[in-house]
Amino acid sequence: ATPTALLVGTGRGAQMGVLIKGPEILESTRKADTIVLDKTGTVTTGKMTLTEVITADGVDSDELLRLAGGLEGHSEHPIAQAIAVGASAQVGELPAPESFENIEGQGVQGVVKGHAVVAGRETLLAEWSMHLDGDLAAAKQAAERQGKTSITVGWNGQARGVLVVSDQVKPTSAEAISQFKALGLRPVLLTGDNQTVAEQVAAQVGIEHVIAEVLPKDKVDVVARLQDAGDVVAMVGDGVNDAPALAQSDLGLAMGTGTDVAIEAADITLVRGDLRAAADAIRLSRKTLRTIK
Ligand code: ADP
Ligand code: MG
Repeated sequence: ATPTALLVGTGRGAQMGVLIKGPEILESTRKADTIVLDKTGTVTTGKMTLTEVITADGVDSDELLRLAGGLEGHSEHPIAQAIAVGASAQVGELPAPESFENIEGQGVQGVVKGHAVVAGRETLLAEWSMHLDGDLAAAKQAAERQGKTSITVGWNGQARGVLVVSDQVKPTSAEAISQFKALGLRPVLLTGDNQTVAEQVAAQVGIEHVIAEVLPKDKVDVVARLQDAGDVVAMVGDGVNDAPALAQSDLGLAMGTGTDVAIEAADITLVRGDLRAAADAIRLSRKTLRTIK
C-alpha cells in the first residue's frame, strides 16, 4: 500500500500547487518543530517601490537620485531595481557608472560622474567613515519604525541622503503563520534587513522570534545553530541568498515565484507565491505519512 499512498499524497500536492521532490521528505515534515521564514519575497511581496527621498541640507535630490540610481541600475537586487525605476521616473536617463561593485547583502559602490558613491546599509557607509547627521538619522529611524527599508547614500566621504523603499506584507502571510503555530511549528523571521524593520514586519504577521541583520553567507549558519540547539528546522525562502540555508534545513521549501537556485536547493516547491501553501504542504505530508503507517 505504500507506493499508492505516496502517489496520492504527491498527486494531491500537485493539485494544491505543492511539488514534493521525493517520499523521504515526508518524515521531515513530521519532525519539524521550527519554521524559519525569509522576510523579503517570502513573508512580504518583495515588490519594492521608492517612496521617499530625504536629503541632507544643501544636497539636490535629483543629483542624489542620479548618482544612486546610476549605480543601482546595475544591481539585480529588488531594492536596487526599485531605486533605479523610481530615480529614472524622476530624473530621466541615469548616468552610466565609471566603475561598479556589488557588495552582497550590503549595497553597492562605484564611481558615478566622477564621484565615489556608496548606497546601502548604514554600516557599509560607516566603513568609509560616512555617518548620517542627526536629522537624517531621525528620518531614517522614523521610516524604519513603519517597517520600511531605508538605504543610505553618500559620496566623496559624506553621507548625503536616505532613500526609503517599501515592500508589503503579503495579505495571506498572517494566516499562514497562525496555521504554522497550529501545526506545532515555531516561526522565526530571518532577514538581512535591520532589526527595527524586521520586528515591525514580524509584529504585523504574528511572529515572536526575529533574527535580523544576517549577511547572506551567514543565513546557513543561523539554521545550523538552531539545529545544534536541538531544533528540527523547516525553512521557506525565495532568493539566491537563501539556497545554502534551504539545503542545510531539515526541510527546505522554496517559493515558486523565487529564483531557480532556491528551487533547486529545496525539497518542496510552492507553486503559488502564497505562504499558506507551506502549511498545506506540511499538513498534507503528515497526513500521507499516517496513511502509509
Ligand atoms: P533579505 O534577507 O531580507 O532578503 P538581503 O540580504 O538581500 O535582504 O539584503 C540585506 C540588506 O542589505 C537590505 O535590507 C539593504 O539594506 C542592503 N542591500 C542589499 N543590496 C542592496 C543594494 N543593491 N542597494 C542598497 N542596499 C542593499
Ligand atoms: Mg528574500
